[in-house]
Amino acid sequence: MPSDISTYNFPTKIRFGPGSRHELTTELSILGMQRPLVVTDRDVAKLPWFSTIEDTLTDMPSATFRGVWGNPVVSQVTAGLEAYHHHQADGIVAVGGGAPMDVAKAIALMAHHPGHLFDYEDGASTRSIDQPIPSIVAIPTTAGTGSEVGRSAVISDDETHGKKIVFDPQLLPQVVLADPELLLGLPAKITAATGMDALTHLIEAFLAKGQNPLCDGIALEGIYLVSQHLKDCVDFAQKRAEIDQAAHLRARAGMLNASMMGAIAFQKGLGVTHSCAHALSTICDTHHGLANGIMLPAAMRFNLAAEPERFLRMARVVKPGAQSGQELIDWILSLSNSIGIPMSLKALGVSAETVDQLVSIAINDVCHPLNPRPVTKDDFYAIYRDALAA
Ligand SMILES: [Zn+2]
Repeated sequence: MPSDISTYNFPTKIRFGPGSRHELTTELSILGMQRPLVVTDRDVAKLPWFSTIEDTLTDMPSATFRGVWGNPVVSQVTAGLEAYHHHQADGIVAVGGGAPMDVAKAIALMAHHPGHLFDYEDGASTRSIDQPIPSIVAIPTTAGTGSEVGRSAVISDDETHGKKIVFDPQLLPQVVLADPELLLGLPAKITAATGMDALTHLIEAFLAKGQNPLCDGIALEGIYLVSQHLKDCVDFAQKRAEIDQAAHLRARAGMLNASMMGAIAFQKGLGVTHSCAHALSTICDTHHGLANGIMLPAAMRFNLAAEPERFLRMARVVKPGAQSGQELIDWILSLSNSIGIPMSLKALGVSAETVDQLVSIAINDVCHPLNPRPVTKDDFYAIYRDALAA
């Protein structure tokens, strides 16, 4: 394929709005799914509204797998796959944040494919994805990864915590029921960390190498939505602001859209922030969004000189009179500060000695080759030290 031809992909059916979760059975019957396996996080399964989703499925044989928690690992996929076959399921309803979405995709992949999940690692596969993959209906309950509109799953090895990505267009959920009511009870810390993940996707996608003006437009509007709604979501979650239910729902809806827009935009690519964050999750088991939130300012200080014009365009989205790209970084710092994201890696217990391990993982990560400025080993040291000194 000539290198100046790009691919634009926006195929997901999204039913967006308060109460859209009630359309589950309608969407399942359109898909012809008759024996769904619900895949969810063990904490999500305890939430009061979760049983109402199970209740809507009483007219058909359904089963629930609740064995997902933390950063998703292979053993969770294996247990979920067993539940899938035991139920003789013909599709999956994924309910939750990024972890259950990714586990659901991995179960769907392995439903009709032999061997080990990592045999299908993107870019290093030893087996081909040549069998049908069952349909997934996704019901997101966080606004961060946007995994519900993505074609990949990130799963870690149980022992080494090394992350591997599996990718296939058929892993994209067929339908997303995006219902902001499900986010009203999200705790402040998770709201802040997942929101910073969404923001990082949007900024890194806009800066990533390559031509995709559709993604660029989506990224800029997504950054605007974060600037309008993330702090409000955290304030409502902390009950610092007087609870106005309608305003809270509007803010959650804004972030739910921003999160999906980030994941749609990053089909263009991500960058150095994600490479740094992936290493932090591997070594320190840091929450992915929190890791991005802490690394974003240092990573953007590194990138600013490479793309001053693009930084200025983003700065003008969050501050219309902005005169320089630096004002975007200033805005990120002030947003982070206002929602409780730590300024320094010290908050994670990272020391100068840890940096060696972090760099050795980050340099091999798949995200930074699309960063607008090439990143060397020395650059990774400089970025981590900058984030440590902040
Ligand atoms: Zn991310």
